[in-house]
Amino acid sequence: MSGDLLARQPVTSLKGVGAALASTLLRLDIRSVQDLVFHLPRQYEDRSRITPIGALRTGLSAQVEAEVQLADIVMGRRRSLVVRVQDGSGQLTLRFYHFNMAQKEKFVRGARLRIFGEARIGAAGIEMYHPEYQAVSADMPPPSDTLTPIYPVTEGLTQLRLRPLVAQALTRITAHNLPDWLPAGEARGWSLADALRYVHAPPRDADRVALVAGRHPAQQRLAFEELVAHQLSLLKRRAEIRAQQAVALPPAGALHQRFLQALPFPLTGAQTRVLAEIATDLRSPQPMLRLVQGDVGAGKTIVAALAACHALEAGSQVALMAPTEILAEQHALNFTRWFEPMGIRVALLLGRLGVKARREINTAMADGSAGILIGTHALFQDDVQFKHLALVIIDEQHRFGVHQRLALKQKGEHGDIAPHQLIMTATPIPRTLAMSAYGDLDTSVIDELPPGRTPIQTLVLPGERRADIVERIRAQCLAGKQAYWVCTLIEESDQLQAQAAEATFAELQVALPELRIGLVHGRLKSAEKIAVMQAFKNGELQLLVATTVIEVGVDVPRATLMVIENPERLGLAQLHQLRGRVGRGAEQSFCVLLYQAPLGQLGRERLSIMRETTDGFRIAEKDLELRGPGEVLGTRQTGEMAFRLADLLRDAPLLPAVQDAARKLLAERPADAQALLERWVAGREHYARV
Ligand code: ADP
Ligand code: MG
Repeated sequence: MSGDLLARQPVTSLKGVGAALASTLLRLDIRSVQDLVFHLPRQYEDRSRITPIGALRTGLSAQVEAEVQLADIVMGRRRSLVVRVQDGSGQLTLRFYHFNMAQKEKFVRGARLRIFGEARIGAAGIEMYHPEYQAVSADMPPPSDTLTPIYPVTEGLTQLRLRPLVAQALTRITAHNLPDWLPAGEARGWSLADALRYVHAPPRDADRVALVAGRHPAQQRLAFEELVAHQLSLLKRRAEIRAQQAVALPPAGALHQRFLQALPFPLTGAQTRVLAEIATDLRSPQPMLRLVQGDVGAGKTIVAALAACHALEAGSQVALMAPTEILAEQHALNFTRWFEPMGIRVALLLGRLGVKARREINTAMADGSAGILIGTHALFQDDVQFKHLALVIIDEQHRFGVHQRLALKQKGEHGDIAPHQLIMTATPIPRTLAMSAYGDLDTSVIDELPPGRTPIQTLVLPGERRADIVERIRAQCLAGKQAYWVCTLIEESDQLQAQAAEATFAELQVALPELRIGLVHGRLKSAEKIAVMQAFKNGELQLLVATTVIEVGVDVPRATLMVIENPERLGLAQLHQLRGRVGRGAEQSFCVLLYQAPLGQLGRERLSIMRETTDGFRIAEKDLELRGPGEVLGTRQTGEMAFRLADLLRDAPLLPAVQDAARKLLAERPADAQALLERWVAGREHYARV
């Protein structure tokens, strides 16, 4: 037997844990004694000593002993019970919003109280809201000599009940049932057992500020181990993929040449380099798994089309998946224009297609008469069968969930033969994050924009300037330019978004009667969406009012002005994507961020970054700094990066060493690596599949 034996001891083997408590613990995903040991505190309280009021620090909870001076009911915005206490070093105000008269009566002048709460700055100086308190008496328990851990709990399970259970679980740890899989040299001076014991019960003089922030060396030791385990799961997944077979695609010849010759421009150096990397992968009998990052407008579509040439020339099929119908339609138009003259049929599969049209497409893919299938997630939800799918291209992958990507890949699998995968994203992922989020993928970066682009000028203006902006749109459009007006809403609801856009559309039609204005949002039928986009692309519409459905991929080079309403509601990465819809030609483009005043400090800082730079990587770094990894990777992926205690942003400095340690462990002690992975990632492993 291998692995952690402690994981095989059920919680019911602990004293005092019966079936009822076990099922409550299950709600916290705690099944084994080991799960308890890894159930780590979120917070710490210091009940080990009495802190003089004069030494309280705001934001930290502390225990004080003090004498009641007065108790009063104050009628403010909300009625509150205010109790003033003092201990000789200072005064403290206790404030209760929920209270009863009996409670007030107990705060008699001169009574001595032991009080526990978090110190804050309030209207009356230092205050505690709803502190715990009790009268000082002779039979009070002696103060503990360690900090008190505060655990994540659930209904029916209190801290008081959980604490002794964890303490009991800790006594079960032995070198035999919870070994140090990490070599001592990598363990930063702590054995696993010592680090765990420390974080569950730090001595009273421990650095509590560091502990609360997760920066204590004992916690960093654990975070390091967790990150190594996560990295191992990515390496392992990578190895699994490498172990599969793929159809080796010979270097493309005639088709590739014809495609390049038909292009009205030469490829950029970066496009050429990335294509060479892709071609090398495709030649191999192992499946390619390559992530291509390229900022908005870098020219990823052409790269996808040229990659497709390799498969098509070998007589195989290509699937291209896009996150929105608008983008799928746009790709279908481009690919049809490029490939049909060469005799390759392109099919477009949309969610709302009729039965007959769908059957027709299915037949064409199954008998191989169509070479390229383009669509949204309908591609894998459906019963589409391919004759010979050799390459899967996923555009704007950050918009898809993990499972969708895996499902499409499985379509191409015949026994052990897997399709090659090309994954494209415009979300620039800061390097530190990429190493941990996409460790299973090879990465290429298109780090150069096509020549002749003029950088977009971004203006940040308050909503009061709306009328000026409308005038500006009138002038620009009458001068032959095109513009977007983007309505944002925090709600994800299509319906609310559509309503907001409809209202703006109506309003702008009144304000700008001389302009041809279109409206596009997620509630339109696909045919309607497509018609509106097409009319805008052809220049029949001058102004397009849209929701964020146009965020990804849409390419209308003649549009040079974009207004984004309430940009403060969106993440920086999303704003950057949206803004990338303009600035696609040689002409000067403008983006107006029309915010709702007043903006907070953070809001101002964020929007000014958008004004200062059009470099997606810098914007993403900043977003990461201001909002954390969940926001940068997109909400869909937040849950997929669920760590017990590691934090990619905080622990970024550990990542290079994490990578080294993981690689070394896997090479030198594969069984230990597997055990470590199971310790931290087991059951969560599917999350690691990006
Ligand atoms: P993205 O990387 O955002 O998907 P697209 O593939 O939509 O970018 O390309 C943006 C625009 O740049 C398109 O109009 C495309 O035709 C154009 N383009 C792509 N590559 C080049 C190039 N090498 N030279 C000039 N224009 C290019
Ligand atoms: Mg694109």
